[in-house]
Amino acid sequence: MAPIKCRSFIAFCIVLFYAHTASAWGTWGHNHINKGAIMALPAEMGMFFYNHADFIVEESTVPDLRKYSLGDRSENPRHYINLESYGYQNEQLPNSIKEAIAKYGKDSVDRYGILPWYILDMKAKLTEAFRKKRKTEILFLAADLGHYIGDAHVPLHATINHNGQLTGQQGIHSFWESQLPEIFGRTYKLNTREAKYIDDLPKATWSLLDTSYSLLTNLLLNDRKMRKDKPEELQFVLSKDGTPTLNKFGQKVHTYEFSHVYHELLNGMVEQQLKRAIRFTADLWYTAWVDAGRPDLSDLDSEATTERNSPFYTADKAAWKKGKIRGCSSEKEYPTVGR
Ligand SMILES: [Zn+2]
Repeated sequence: MAPIKCRSFIAFCIVLFYAHTASAWGTWGHNHINKGAIMALPAEMGMFFYNHADFIVEESTVPDLRKYSLGDRSENPRHYINLESYGYQNEQLPNSIKEAIAKYGKDSVDRYGILPWYILDMKAKLTEAFRKKRKTEILFLAADLGHYIGDAHVPLHATINHNGQLTGQQGIHSFWESQLPEIFGRTYKLNTREAKYIDDLPKATWSLLDTSYSLLTNLLLNDRKMRKDKPEELQFVLSKDGTPTLNKFGQKVHTYEFSHVYHELLNGMVEQQLKRAIRFTADLWYTAWVDAGRPDLSDLDSEATTERNSPFYTADKAAWKKGKIRGCSSEKEYPTVGR
């Protein structure tokens, strides 16, 4: 991975053992990434995945539930990587969890996060599931992979400053990945090219993290610029008692005006990252299937199921080609503030 230099906020990144607590993308983002990836698959895979679209879409947020609702501690480091803690600017990072543990020790790796390595591990498992044509495993692993790939496209999942806590921007994480897509997602065009085979998966995975990381400065500086000297009532929706309104996860709710201006300053960043996540998820599913020898998936479902879903698949595909992802009635995490 190419080192990236000159990140202005790195000076703040001195807390090496900060634990991530925020989610990623929110329900809206994860649901749309998994559904979009289904639509980007070629026909040989697409119909089978579409037959199970409801499961794949719902399952897209389950890795976060394992972390928060079940308190599964082994889940936490799979959702992020604190690149600075691994010396990202100065050295070549290991290519596997095993190598990382040998180099940094298990405790450090658990704290710094394992996201890219976990994606590579999951891909190997998905390939194996395709090879053995284990339907339930294919669906479970593919849906989970979509979640982690989604997380890797959130710039704040690649840094130790994951919630702006080191730069006085607490709350930026959920604002960027959950409230902005909920407000503006309906205007996004989330169609991509059809899935392609990835020749060098470790390289492609590190490259996507390079891209995510490279967006951090812009993401944080624009927010800082907007908050400077701005009274709270122009940033947040206030309750009757004058304190900021909180959503169901305890996050402050930003006003529509503040969100709109910030979203404009980001110049399409959120939409672009969602599209990249959709593309990469579809590419990875496709690569696992090709590596497994392109197994025929059509006999994994009954003919009646495929026949029943076929016209809906055609209609959803046509809508998707125009940029619209249909069939994601995501649970809202924020009250409506938009127009
Ligand atoms: Zn996550």
